[in-house]
Amino acid sequence: MSTGEQARLEARIDLAAVRSNVRRMREVAGSAQVMAVVKADAYGHGMVQCARAAVEAGATWLGTALPEEALALRAAGLTVPILTWLHVPGDPFADLIAAGVDVSVSGLWALREVTEAVRALGGRPARIQLKADTGLGRNGAPPHDWPLLVEEAVKAQEDGLVTVTGLWSHFACADEPRHPSVAAQLSAFHVALDIAERAGLRPEVRHIANSPATLLVLDSHFDLVRSGLATYGVSPAPDEGSAADFGLHPAMTLVGRLALVKQVEAGSGISYGHTYHTARRTRLGLVPAGYADGIPRAASNRAPVWIDGVRHTIAGRVAMDQFVVDLGDQEAGVGDEVVLFGPGERGEPTAQDWAELVGTIAYEIVTRIGPRVARVYLHAGGNP
Ligand SMILES: *Cc1c(COP(=O)(O)O)cnc(C)c1O
Repeated sequence: MSTGEQARLEARIDLAAVRSNVRRMREVAGSAQVMAVVKADAYGHGMVQCARAAVEAGATWLGTALPEEALALRAAGLTVPILTWLHVPGDPFADLIAAGVDVSVSGLWALREVTEAVRALGGRPARIQLKADTGLGRNGAPPHDWPLLVEEAVKAQEDGLVTVTGLWSHFACADEPRHPSVAAQLSAFHVALDIAERAGLRPEVRHIANSPATLLVLDSHFDLVRSGLATYGVSPAPDEGSAADFGLHPAMTLVGRLALVKQVEAGSGISYGHTYHTARRTRLGLVPAGYADGIPRAASNRAPVWIDGVRHTIAGRVAMDQFVVDLGDQEAGVGDEVVLFGPGERGEPTAQDWAELVGTIAYEIVTRIGPRVARVYLHAGGNP
């Protein structure tokens, strides 16, 4: 905010926590490099600022889902290798190639569009990474398509159109490390690597581990690990350990301010649908945060907030722009801070608490926080 005042609703992003989390993931990854995954505005934390902090702390790669995310990182001056992996026909492959972004290829159509773009540009070969579906059942070439994709990529490499910089895959159940699919995917990945290596590919990086695999499946690290949620300090496998157990520090604190405080009588219906009624004469606090900001409507009558050390549950429905808390005996006033979630280190609720109460995962709680919410960056610029 230009006034220096606290915004209606702000996400305070502790970049020192991001740096510390990246250092922690480097420690766990051992000799493997760390890619900070910064897709979806760095899971709601602010893409460029978090990418810079991650690189300062030793992340040597950045990962995005969409081409425009990768191009925005280059436009912001980030020069480290970037991989982008979710493509549709007609994507700006020429721009990606010109920007030196590694493009993931899961099918022949993408290889064709990339090689056509290189021919049209007439310049250097495109950096591509071949993605195998080793059992996630989502993106990536399935085993019966893999040998042909490899063969066509080898030909394109021999023709000087592409350089295959990576071979990679993604886990389905790394947050449940004893799930049988984890070992099955690792062996399928070894098979896919063997096929590619026998065809002559010698990529810079082979990688399959996301945050939970990095922390829990130690033989999955290969040359590079892809750290998404862990970069932001939230546990990617809450059944296996908390953020603190994994040595991570949540980077986002979501803070609003009371917009109105008023007294009402016992039995007053609160917010749309009157799903909450006051049990006695009480004071209500109005919090200017709603589902347009990414606060889940499913948090109605469920999720906690924290005002000056006191926890309250949201009273009634979360509306588009606002919700209400029943302050009871608390002496809170207009303008007071309302912490929705934070690191939890002062007793405030966490994104993980919200996820459990709302019936989702903490990934969704932080990533949904929308563009109407001001981001305020703390500890920028390499200070500890
Ligand atoms: C989002 C994503 C990641 C990061 O996953 P986390 O569990 O957040 O670490 C890694 N790889 C791919 C392909 C992804 O889509």
